[in-house]
Amino acid sequence: MKSQGSNVRHLYVHIPFCAVKCDYCAFYSEPAQETRVERLLAALEREIEKVAARLKPETIFFGGGTPSILTERQFERLLSHLRGCIPILGSRITNHESRVTSPDFEWTIEMNPATVSLEKARLLRAFGVNRASLGVQSFDDELLRRLGRVHTAAMALESIATLREAGFVNLNLDFIFAIPGQTPTQWEPTLRRAIALEPQHLSTYELTYEDDTPLFRRLQARGVARLDEATATAMYERMLELTAEAGFRQYEISNIARPGRECRHNLNAWRGGDYIGVGPSACGYVDGWRYRNVADIDAYIARIERGESPAEHAEKLSPRARAGELAAFALRMNEGVAAAAFERQTGFRLEQLWPDALPELAGQKLVEWDGERLRLTPRGRLLADTVAEAFIIVDKAETSSHHPAYAD
Ligand code: SF4
Repeated sequence: MKSQGSNVRHLYVHIPFCAVKCDYCAFYSEPAQETRVERLLAALEREIEKVAARLKPETIFFGGGTPSILTERQFERLLSHLRGCIPILGSRITNHESRVTSPDFEWTIEMNPATVSLEKARLLRAFGVNRASLGVQSFDDELLRRLGRVHTAAMALESIATLREAGFVNLNLDFIFAIPGQTPTQWEPTLRRAIALEPQHLSTYELTYEDDTPLFRRLQARGVARLDEATATAMYERMLELTAEAGFRQYEISNIARPGRECRHNLNAWRGGDYIGVGPSACGYVDGWRYRNVADIDAYIARIERGESPAEHAEKLSPRARAGELAAFALRMNEGVAAAAFERQTGFRLEQLWPDALPELAGQKLVEWDGERLRLTPRGRLLADTVAEAFIIVDKAETSSHHPAYAD
């Protein structure tokens, strides 16, 4: 499996460090000890060099972990390297005005309010980063403490002001609802405050209890109680009402945006587009191959230093299984699945793959299906994971140990 396909227009960079592990989090991250960060950056730079020939980015997404935990010097090193490896990035960056407003380039960085400074934000802007995604989670300090977050509501407000001062005009704010003990009355002021701050995008996630997290262990030990489904649903529906009144548009189950400010990077992934992921635990999808890098910083560095691929697993789904995955992803978006585009992309008609499921789900008022477009109903959105399961097709996948985007 050699990489020789067309340009890949989307890059994900995973920075696997966090100041403190939040109690609910199952993402791969570790404390940001300096020598470790330096060794990781050196390895990340080697991986970027290996995939750079395939990249012509229209979106870049720095996620984690907490990318904003890097110091200015570390950012300068990494972003200079990225710019050196991907010439098109240099040309975009020199055109300062167009990168702010250009619809064809989006560069997002996830930030934690505890790690935002004006100098860092200005440096990121100077390198062309033009979208910040801030993990606010709540404007209630007691709930933040319950989640094990390292920051306060005041720090989040200060970070928003700092990011704006540095020139970020495209902001996403992340929130969590259905936190143990949270009431709808506590959720509403957070929502109203978020809207009043006039971000371009909001992501709101219902708290999930992931295995092997402190929160999950507290749940098992009955130290906290899961909010009942009716209360969580009421919070979700209130979020939709208030944001719609304020002129936001929901485009995915958990994501709403001002028109034109949808996250292009995520839209590409949900529409089944190719993207390259670099860094420990990063996933990618290239030329029909899906891969995942090893989720361990030391193992990742060791593989790169030995000249090996950091991908511990790459697989190519059967055409039917891939079609099922595409339908399940696309259903998360309000636009749903356009039947004609689906057939062009996969070679299958929807009713050919799911002759029984489509009328059944439509009968249960979980999907709308008019022969041209399939989408979730509002009720279906509340049960999205269950509906998606009906579209998953399990077939034997082809596997490989090679990184599908590596140039050698
Ligand atoms: S900051 Fe984000 S990635 Fe880090 S532990 Fe908290 S939720 Fe997880």
